[in-house]
Formats: sequence, structure tokens, C-alpha cells
Amino acid sequence: MSRIHGTNTKPELEVRRRLHSMGFRFRLHCSKLPGKPDIVLPKHKKAIFVHGCFWHGHQGCKRSKPPSSNVQFWTAKIAKTVERDRNNRKALVELGWQALTIWSCEIKNTEFLEKRLREFLDDPASEEK
Ligand SMILES: [Zn+2]
Repeated sequence: MSRIHGTNTKPELEVRRRLHSMGFRFRLHCSKLPGKPDIVLPKHKKAIFVHGCFWHGHQGCKRSKPPSSNVQFWTAKIAKTVERDRNNRKALVELGWQALTIWSCEIKNTEFLEKRLREFLDDPASEEK
């Protein structure tokens, strides 16, 4: 079960760097919001979660395969996390926030990452009136 892939660059740091270079201001680990989003843009009411594919059960992702031992244990544990994530996102939306999940497997492709961030953050639906 390899969770960390070679470098010291944590996916979250990479997302923060990217956001910064795109000129966005953000806050970190907002404990007042459901699920403690990793990155919060209060002005836009947008929250970003940076999730590890394994721990958060990224569907269809080859990094999210459970280890060959203790399959049941891991499957149950991860299912719980997935459920919790879903509830947190729902709670955020109910508070009038938007949430985006960035998966750790998506970080390497900076072009893709930037596109996802931009689409999420430029969404006019939540622009301040
Ligand atoms: Zn993934």
C-alpha cells in the first residue's frame, strides 16, 4: 500500500501553490465548516478538499485499490470515509457553500488541475452580488 509517491510535495501544497499563482486568496483548514475543508475561499463561499485516492476511495482510480490483506477491514473503513465526505459536502451546500474535491492523482497534470480550479472558482453562479 503505497500512499506517498516519491516526492515530498504534498498534493495539498501543490493545489495551494497553483491557486496562489492564479491569484486567489484562500484560508486553510477551516474548522468551522463541515469536514474541515483543506482550502477555503470565504469571499467566494467555496471550499476545496484535497483527497488521497486510497483513503477517500476515489472511484475507478487505480490508486484506490485496497491492499490484498485485510480487504474487508479496509473496504469498510474506506466506505465510512466516503460516506462522511458525502455528508460533509451536503452540509456545506446546505450552508450555501460550494465544494470541490481534488484527488491526489489529479495533481500531477497541472494543466488539468488549473482548469478544474478555474472552472470551479469562476463559476458565476456564486459570484458576489
Ligand atoms: Zn485517484
